[in-house]
Amino acid sequence: MPRNKVYNWQIKRETVYPFEGVRSQKQFAAVFDINKCIACQTCTMACKQTWTTGKGQDYMFWNNVESKPYGFYPLAWDVKLLGMLGPQKWDGETFSGKTIFEAAPRGQIAAGYLPDAYDYAYPNVGEDEPYGTVHQGDYITVPHRVWHFYLARICNHCTYAACLASCPRKAIYKRPEDGIVLVDQKRCRGYRECVRACPYKRVFFNKSTKISEKCIACYPKVEEGTQTQCITTCIGRIRLNGWIHTPDQADPENPIDYLVHVKKAALPLFPQFGLEPNIYYIPPVHVPPPFSRQMFGPGVERAVQAYQAAQEDRTLLAALTLFGSTEFWISRFKLSNGLAIGFDDAGTERVRVPLMEPVYIRPFYDEKLEVYRHNIT
Ligand code: SF4
Ligand code: SF4
Repeated sequence: MPRNKVYNWQIKRETVYPFEGVRSQKQFAAVFDINKCIACQTCTMACKQTWTTGKGQDYMFWNNVESKPYGFYPLAWDVKLLGMLGPQKWDGETFSGKTIFEAAPRGQIAAGYLPDAYDYAYPNVGEDEPYGTVHQGDYITVPHRVWHFYLARICNHCTYAACLASCPRKAIYKRPEDGIVLVDQKRCRGYRECVRACPYKRVFFNKSTKISEKCIACYPKVEEGTQTQCITTCIGRIRLNGWIHTPDQADPENPIDYLVHVKKAALPLFPQFGLEPNIYYIPPVHVPPPFSRQMFGPGVERAVQAYQAAQEDRTLLAALTLFGSTEFWISRFKLSNGLAIGFDDAGTERVRVPLMEPVYIRPFYDEKLEVYRHNIT
């Protein structure tokens, strides 16, 4: 098996990748603002209804939302792998521990495990269960002493996808035009090496068809210039789709580049696994940094600070205002006269949203209609 050297900017060093490791021309990405998620599961149901209502797909949630620290789908997916990998060392912003490819046991592509059927049986395990105990006389501090948060997850359409590298049939491929990772249903023979290797457990085995399936990034929507189902249906407006570049190519007018590279307000999930995942998270502001650092890497405190400064930083506020504001794919944005304006790939304006909603105060007594209004704003 090839062991190519590739550069992974999220861990700021070269690493081995047992496949070609060629970057796509464009890379599908998204930013999820954890602070706004209310765990309504609308995204989960929108995805389920669109893609996984067939035979053998009952247990599959290509999108799921789990409560951290005690929620998992499948059971213990992250803590099990973290336990296998051992201590995770960062030297400043450089990861000095082992990625899943570097820690692979002999004869395997990546360190990983195959979940049991039982591990998928309780997708809402740990829901709303907080860490810590409230004692008499306790008061709220930031970060909170008793906390939990909601982690929405889809396939990360990783730059160095483990599912793809591990497939003995070469049935998984990454599209050069948009970086979306897909399973070729005709080539797949259901060996489940992808399920074992994906550290995020985002590939699912269909027991009826005996082949593997995964999130397809709603590619028919992406091809027509719209954002995915889980993103456009999100009630909390926590999500924004877009293209991401490497840091050296970052375009400050691209909202994803701006949030990830310029403001450094959004971070990848478990960057130390070494896959360069492409779903980025604005970390929860109320959670003790040691926990979030393990999950999102060493930039957590800086990301929280950048996010909290959005009240004064109007360009950042403009980028955040675009979340959930349109179904169209937004490639470029600008702030103009208090409006966040978004443009698509062709440069056509697709949305304009005020940073501040106007407030109208109506008279308590409306002479024209001869009515009293108790709620006057
Ligand atoms: S998250 Fe898992 S399934 Fe998705 S591309 Fe990465 S390795 Fe593959
Ligand atoms: S729809 Fe949005 S707010 Fe609701 S659970 Fe999904 S990500 Fe969270």
